[in-house]
Amino acid sequence: MMNCKKATQLLSEAQDRELSLTDRAALKIHLMMCSGCTNFSQHLNLLRRFTQSYAHGDDTSHSPEKSKNDPE
Ligand SMILES: [Zn+2]
Repeated sequence: MMNCKKATQLLSEAQDRELSLTDRAALKIHLMMCSGCTNFSQHLNLLRRFTQSYAHGDDTSHSPEKSKNDPE
């Protein structure tokens, strides 16, 4: 059984390379049972989308310190 450390490592690697069928299967099984890694996976996907849109120049602002979720 895959542990969380291995699972998160594979999730990170999956951003950069194609995982083997064995790794993907093991990861899928782990994600079905582990909410922590499922959250991590979703977070990575969001981050990836953000990075991709940023790379495509969709982000017009250039101030990483300023949050767009300002309560006011
Ligand atoms: Zn886990």
